[in-house]
Amino acid sequence: DHVVNDTVREPVRDIRGSLIRSFDADISDIPGIIKLTLGEPDFPTPNRVTEAGIKALQAGRTHYAPNAGTMGFRQAVVDYLQRRRDLHYSVDNIVATVGGSEALSSVLGSILSEETQSIIPIPAFGAYKTQTLLAGGALDLIDTTETGFKLTPDQLEAAIERAHNAQKKPVLIINYPNNPTGVALNSEELKALAQVVIKHDVIVVSDEVYAEVYYGEGRADSIARYAPKHTILIDSASKTFAMTGWRVGYIAAPAELADQFVKVHQSNVATGATFTMDAAEEGYRHGDEDIERMVEAYRARKDFLYTALTNLGLTVAYPDGAFYLFIQMPQWFEGTGLEFCTKLAKEAKVAVIPGAAFGNPNSRWVRASYAASMENLQESVQRIRAWLKEQN
Ligand code: PLP
Repeated sequence: DHVVNDTVREPVRDIRGSLIRSFDADISDIPGIIKLTLGEPDFPTPNRVTEAGIKALQAGRTHYAPNAGTMGFRQAVVDYLQRRRDLHYSVDNIVATVGGSEALSSVLGSILSEETQSIIPIPAFGAYKTQTLLAGGALDLIDTTETGFKLTPDQLEAAIERAHNAQKKPVLIINYPNNPTGVALNSEELKALAQVVIKHDVIVVSDEVYAEVYYGEGRADSIARYAPKHTILIDSASKTFAMTGWRVGYIAAPAELADQFVKVHQSNVATGATFTMDAAEEGYRHGDEDIERMVEAYRARKDFLYTALTNLGLTVAYPDGAFYLFIQMPQWFEGTGLEFCTKLAKEAKVAVIPGAAFGNPNSRWVRASYAASMENLQESVQRIRAWLKEQN
């Protein structure tokens, strides 16, 4: 279409619709299908949060907030990061955004260019690649399947060297706990990456939207604790407080960088919505119990599903967080991931997402979300068990 070709620049034309959404649309009509495809909490937003939002609306909090967000929200985030994550920021470091998505686009839109090379461990959330291409940046996707879905310091060193050899400035984009694998890095592993980042003076964008959905000892750690001057932290109320539709997130970054990001954020969206910031503020101030209640439910489902699938002989990456299991396709299956997921959806009536949606077109893994009821998870296991038996 020449209108499109004449009008829309190439990186935009090249964006293919999300594989997740198109697959989901294709299989949704199958009668009785159980969908383990959703990337969002199945819980309602906690009452205290919703009530704070309603109160804000009734109090007339329906006009522009300051560009960087309300002082109340930013201070609540500062206190929250201190209290729950041992991260030390002040309000000058915090920019309220329209979800983690806009935090990512404002940050990556500010720092990526033809002169940068994004180092992205895959499997990964699709927006990192899209934002890189929109900015005209180069990509270095690092497949972490062989290293337990963890980026290693050696892989990072090599990637930084490749960027330098290509005369590009490296930018590292990481996401732990990870979508789609659930894998997180422990403190030692984060420290080791931080040392490489500091040694080569590389900026790291750390997407920590799943930090609160964490099953390890204590709390999910952050590379921001070991390389604070090099880290731009992205977070969101979407997963933490089951607030995906409210569109609240934030950037936490060195103040001089945050000031720059606000300019892009301001020109993109002016500001987030005032009343949704008020609602999320209530969560960050008083929502610890809500977080813990939801995480315990995710943990029980994770334990059930991981054990059940492993007992069926499937290889599953052990998740430290988030609400996904990354599952290897059985060896006997010879087609693509999309073919596997389509067959499973049609024959077993269980829908999962092909790993190809996360950066490697040849991925032999699939993602199952357990942001689903325990009944549906139990029924899914029954169906998969029966289906696997029919395959020989
Ligand atoms: N980052 C990751 C890794 C995600 O999985 C998601 C949502 O699925 C987001 C960021 C963006 O979420 P939101 O814009 O709702 O905060």
